[in-house]
Amino acid sequence: MEQAVSKEEVRQLVLEARRESKRIALVPTMGALHEGHLSLVRAAQQRADVVVVSIFVNPTQFGPGEDFEAYPRDLDRDLALLAAEGVDAAFTPTTEAMYASGAQVTVDPGPLGDVWEGASRPGHFRGVCTIVAKLLSLVGPDLAFFGEKDYQQLVIVRRMVADLDIPVKIVGCPIVRDADGLALSSRNAYLSPGERRAATVLYRALREAETLVCGGETDAGFVERAMRDTIEAEPLAALDYAALVDPRTLEPAAAAPGARAIIAARVGATRLIDNMAMPSMA
Ligand code: AMP
Repeated sequence: MEQAVSKEEVRQLVLEARRESKRIALVPTMGALHEGHLSLVRAAQQRADVVVVSIFVNPTQFGPGEDFEAYPRDLDRDLALLAAEGVDAAFTPTTEAMYASGAQVTVDPGPLGDVWEGASRPGHFRGVCTIVAKLLSLVGPDLAFFGEKDYQQLVIVRRMVADLDIPVKIVGCPIVRDADGLALSSRNAYLSPGERRAATVLYRALREAETLVCGGETDAGFVERAMRDTIEAEPLAALDYAALVDPRTLEPAAAAPGARAIIAARVGATRLIDNMAMPSMA
């Protein structure tokens, strides 16, 4: 596996692949890799000749008081995992390399960046859009892979490449979960054993919503209340939001069938998010 550290190195690396008319895929990550990330890598390998995985803990998507400093980092382990998967290249820039001093221009995510996660984490999606645009510009992939785990991020990235005419196909990949349903996340490492048990409440609330809709419930408000009640019954969890939204616009869903259920809650000090597609009406 090749490792590019500088922008020049990664540009050079993909230049050679492109000369040979190879299909290039990019998988952007913040490292501390787990099976969720590796599922994106494997999906990328299915559809491209050359897979580039970026590992960069992007400071501009963390707010003041968030966990930028504490965010888990283990580059050697990450590189070994990627090499074992047969990844072609890892791009592991430093913060200084990615953001030249004096950089001023950012990518405005528009109104989709102000709701849900954006309301709780002001500036988060501006940081996400800016780094994703920069990575897409540097690597110039044919395809870029994102997890549905960060559902709002996926919706906003799709909107960004459409609105800015960035020539890349965005591929969304399903959420990978632990056996008890907890969505894999680098932040799960923060959870104490008791919190780890309590953290399944997000998945339980989503499953309850799914069961209600499967059983014929169409009232979005009713399903939302059921999700909230489930989260609020868990003493270690503090609800941020639990909502049914239109899967494309992220506006409150008019009806439960076909909506996306989205949840954010704090378990202890750790903020967790999860989501699930609600079944459509038969
Ligand atoms: P992160 O390193 O947290 O920025 O995540 C990098 C990419 O992996 C994003 O596109 C995430 O949505 C995706 N991802 C993270 N966790 C999961 C998961 N449990 N299942 C599927 N994709 C995931």
